[in-house]
Amino acid sequence: MRKIAIIGGGLAGFHAAFSLQQAGGYDVTVYTNRTAEQLRHGRMLSMAAPFRWVIEREASLGIHFWQDVEARAEGFDMHIKDPGGSGQDLFRLTGRFPDGLYALGIDYRIKFSTWMDEWERRGGRLVVADIDTAALEAIAAESDLTLVVTGRGPLSRIFEPDPVRSTHHLPPLPSAAIFLDGPKVASRQPWDDVPFAPLRFDILPGVGDVFSWPFYTAAGVCRGFAFQSTVPGGPFDAGRDRQGAADYLEFARAATEKMIPDNAFLFEGARIPDEGAWLYGPTEPTVRQPVKQLDNGAWVWGLGDAAMIQDPYAGQSGNNAVRMTDRYVRHILEHGGAPYEPDWMQAVWDEHWEQYGQFAFRFCTLLQDTPNKALMSVQMAAARDPAVAQAFVGWFGYPPDAWPYIEDEQAAKGFIAQHASAPASRSDAA
Ligand SMILES: Cc1cc2nc3c(=O)[nH]c(=O)nc-3n(C[C@H](O)[C@H](O)[C@H](O)COP(=O)(O)OP(=O)(O)OC[C@H]3O[C@@H](n4cnc5c(N)ncnc54)[C@H](O)[C@@H]3O)c2cc1C
Repeated sequence: MRKIAIIGGGLAGFHAAFSLQQAGGYDVTVYTNRTAEQLRHGRMLSMAAPFRWVIEREASLGIHFWQDVEARAEGFDMHIKDPGGSGQDLFRLTGRFPDGLYALGIDYRIKFSTWMDEWERRGGRLVVADIDTAALEAIAAESDLTLVVTGRGPLSRIFEPDPVRSTHHLPPLPSAAIFLDGPKVASRQPWDDVPFAPLRFDILPGVGDVFSWPFYTAAGVCRGFAFQSTVPGGPFDAGRDRQGAADYLEFARAATEKMIPDNAFLFEGARIPDEGAWLYGPTEPTVRQPVKQLDNGAWVWGLGDAAMIQDPYAGQSGNNAVRMTDRYVRHILEHGGAPYEPDWMQAVWDEHWEQYGQFAFRFCTLLQDTPNKALMSVQMAAARDPAVAQAFVGWFGYPPDAWPYIEDEQAAKGFIAQHASAPASRSDAA
C-alpha cells in the first residue's frame, strides 16, 4: 500500500485525504496543528464561500453535511460608490448567477472540525502536531508521497516564490473579516431591491472595499464581512491593535456608518456570534514553486494555498485549491505503482497552472487593478443589462471562461453582443 502523508487538515488537505481514501489502496495520514475542539472554539479561519462545483465534490465524497443550511449566495450586487462617503452609487451591477451556480459559506471552524471527526470515524489516521521542517524531513523520508497543504502557515514558505508566474505587483492590503448576527444583517435578502440572496460588494475607489455574504456558523446563519483598505490607516483598516470581538464590531459599525451610510441599517441589533469570529491580516498574492527537495534529499509537493494564493476579493483561492486537488488526485490514481518523481509532480503542477491556475490568478489581479478597457466595457454593459450582468458574474464560477473577453476589447464587444437581452428589457432602453 502506498504511503501518503498530508500535512495540513484544511480545505485542500481533507479533499485530498477523503478522495484517496474513497479510491482505496492508499495508506494516508493527515497531520494538522489543531484539535477539532481547538478549532471549534478558536478564531475564525477564513471567509471562503466555495462555489457549487466544490460543494458537489464534497457531496460526492460524503463530506457535505450542510445540505439543509440556507446560506447560499445566488448572485452579485456590486456597488462602486462615492469615495467621499455620501453613500451614492457611481455605478451598480446586479446579476443572479447563471446555470444554477451558487456559493455556500460554512464557517471553516465547523467544517474542518467536523471533517477531522469524520476522518477518524472512517478509520483515517490523524496526527495533531505542528510540523516544522525537521519533522517534515522525517515524515517525507518514510512516505512514498508527502503533500504540504499548510495554507498560509509559515511552513508553506519552504516553497520559493515563482518570479515568472507571480505577476501580482499590488501591495498587500490590510484586511479584516468578521461574522455578524442580528435581525437585519442575518436576513437572506437584506436589500429590498435585490430579489435573491446576494454577495454584496461596496467598492470605494482609493478607500477600499467591503464584501459580504451569508455564512453558516455555530450560531446559525450570519453574514460574513471582509474589509480591505486601499491605504494603511484608512477608514477600512481595522488596525493591528484591536483584539476582541466587541472591538471589531465597533470598527465595522463605525466604518460602515461613515463610508457606506446606506448599509448602516444592517447594524441594528447586530452582534458578533462568538468571541473568536474575527480575523485580521493582509494577503500577499503569490505563486510558488511547489516541488521542493528537502535537506535530507526527500521531495515534497505543495498543494492549495501553499502553492498559490490570490486575493480574497474575487473569491478564488479556495475554489482554485480544490480544482488543484482534484487534478493532483486524478494524476496520483493514474500513476498507479510508479514512483512519485519530481518531474512528474512538476508536470502535474504545470498542467494545473496552464489549464486553470493562471486564469484564476490573473482574474483576481485584473479585478483588483484599475480596470482595463475590455473589462470596463463589459462591466458598464453589465450595469445596464441584467443579461450581460448574469454572464459576467458567471466568470467567478470558472475564471477561464473570462478569456479572451476580459483583456481583449474586440472580444469584449462580441461577448456583450452575444449576451445582451432584447432592447426592451434593458434598463437603458426605458
Ligand atoms: C478573509 C478571507 C476570505 C476568503 N474568501 C474566499 C472566498 O470567498 N472564496 C475562496 O475560494 N477562497 C477564499 N479564501 C481563501 C481560502 O480560505 C483558502 O484558499 C483555502 O482555505 C485554502 O485551502 P488550503 O487547504 O490550501 O489551506 P487551509 O484551508 O488554510 O488549510 C491549511 C491547514 O493546515 C494547517 N497547518 C498550517 N500549518 C501547519 C503545520 N505547520 N503543521 C500542521 N498543520 C498545519 C492549518 O491549521 C489548516 O488546517 C479567503 C481567505 C480569507 C483569509
